[in-house]
Amino acid sequence: MSEIKINLKKIVGNYLSLKEYAKKKDIIITPVVKVVAGDINIVQRLEVNGAEIIGDSRIYNIRKFKKAGINSKFLLLRLPAKGEISEVVKYSDYSLNSSADIISMIDKEAKMQKKHHGIVLMIEMGDLREGVCFKKALEISKRIYKMDNVYLKGIGSNFACYGGVVPSDNKMRTLSEIAENFPDIEWISGGNSANICWMRNSDNMYKINHLRLGESIMLGLETLSRKHIPGLHLDSFILSAEVIEFEKKSSIPDGKISQDAFGKVPKFKDEGIISRAILDVGRQDVDPDGLTPIKKNIKILGASSDHLIVKCDSKILVGDKLEFIPNYSALLRIMTSVYIKKSYTE
Ligand SMILES: *Cc1c(COP(=O)(O)O)cnc(C)c1O
Repeated sequence: MSEIKINLKKIVGNYLSLKEYAKKKDIIITPVVKVVAGDINIVQRLEVNGAEIIGDSRIYNIRKFKKAGINSKFLLLRLPAKGEISEVVKYSDYSLNSSADIISMIDKEAKMQKKHHGIVLMIEMGDLREGVCFKKALEISKRIYKMDNVYLKGIGSNFACYGGVVPSDNKMRTLSEIAENFPDIEWISGGNSANICWMRNSDNMYKINHLRLGESIMLGLETLSRKHIPGLHLDSFILSAEVIEFEKKSSIPDGKISQDAFGKVPKFKDEGIISRAILDVGRQDVDPDGLTPIKKNIKILGASSDHLIVKCDSKILVGDKLEFIPNYSALLRIMTSVYIKKSYTE
């Protein structure tokens, strides 16, 4: 059976390295765990190693962490939907927001639950995902200051998600200037793993004092050009899949070619007869384009829902395991798949 080998020590190592590095620049980091689909073991390790606040995009996962007895506080990253407000108040301590209506619903709900909820108001800075313009944020903040059960925890921006916009020195300076209009906020949250290059290369952090980091902790990569962050582990997650067929076959199919299982007309390069293996994972479990084989002599040829097909230049046997490093997209699907066994190493 295919499995994902999760090295908890390496994940924690990456978290602590980034935390220490950011601290030198007076930046606090909130680890983001949304790519691991509610994995309790990973979250528990982060808690034990000092993560006072943990971020996730799904309230479903946060509820699971709370029910499992994790004592960290939680930051909900995806803007709350109307139907989940009572759970947002019940299980998360802070949430990213951009709608005045939703914020006042959170306030009412928090009053009922006798709680206080921290709002991080998102500012649109060019990447065109969540957030409102500065003027609107100012109006919303004035309403928040009048509410009893929500308070303005901070303002934030997000980059390199929809528009691929770089969190440049200029953007960080602008956000810092905007922040001066919001008295008594704790966080000026500059962004995500795409901000690491800026944090490392810029001398002046202006007023930015908070980042939300996911991929850099899990995979050891900054996310503008997916470069290795010095000192971090790149192999905290290894996918191990089992060979269920190994045969020599032609590199081009025999017959008239129409659509494949996913509606595309495939193209092939004629390399004569090749050795190919079929592995027991498919598109339901993994993004095949996001896998890097650990052994050099293996090349991914394609995948259907339940099969991954690779070219393999050395002899292998049915039952052998082949290993791959997943990228973010592949890992997201692997962790969500109920068909892949999760195993933990140190
Ligand atoms: C996912 C997410 C993050 C973390 O992003 P990484 O690129 O994984 O570091 C931060 N903020 C928001 C709003 C997110 O949705």
